[in-house]
Amino acid sequence: MIYLVSPPRKAFPLEHVTVVSESLEQSLENSAQNITSSVITSQEMMPSQTLETITAPHPISPASSPISTEKTPSPLPRPAYQPKIINLTELTPATNYQKWKGKRTIDTLVLHTTEGSGNSARNSFLNPSHKYIAHYLVAENGEILQFAEENNVTSHCKDYNQRSIGIEFAGHYNQLITDAQVAAGAHLISSIKAKYDLPLEKIKPHSELDPSRRKDPGKANMDALLKAVKAYQTKEKK
Ligand SMILES: [Zn+2]
Repeated sequence: MIYLVSPPRKAFPLEHVTVVSESLEQSLENSAQNITSSVITSQEMMPSQTLETITAPHPISPASSPISTEKTPSPLPRPAYQPKIINLTELTPATNYQKWKGKRTIDTLVLHTTEGSGNSARNSFLNPSHKYIAHYLVAENGEILQFAEENNVTSHCKDYNQRSIGIEFAGHYNQLITDAQVAAGAHLISSIKAKYDLPLEKIKPHSELDPSRRKDPGKANMDALLKAVKAYQTKEKK
């Protein structure tokens, strides 16, 4: 709700979820559009500035030039893009989550990595014989797929399922997720955090809640996401 007073760019998270959940057809249509547009987005986001730099009509300096033309561009500004949320809840087999009667009390947000590609996680989550899913999956290109309504229970974290929302990031606990995933994740986490009034300490790595079995999403990924969430909140307050 706090997003309503913000500029439109920041208004994405809650509104977007509502809009795309209107109907299956619409969600499929959105899904198709989003896939297309987000491919463009992800291309625009990362390599475009690099490309510009390379293809800019600079005269190539002689080798003696003190300025190296191969110098990597200075860090790209955090792209001001809106993550796409693709609502697949109506495609998720009913056996893969537990419908919750009444309003669920949510006091924890659990972050994961899939330990595989986003595509393979997506296929598993939509497979009726697969019982372990999370509410959201953030794909490598920053696209966010939603598999279950937040009020329903998914099996993603032993002993915490009934009280938590789970977000999976495509990737591995011992490898950094992409910048697009960090940016999209920060938006998604911030919107959930605000909606359920969760303090930062309630955003947990899976590894902390099931330490004997899990290592995901890894310290570096957790740090990157929390840092981005904090930055996002600071921006919101200004
Ligand atoms: Zn996990």
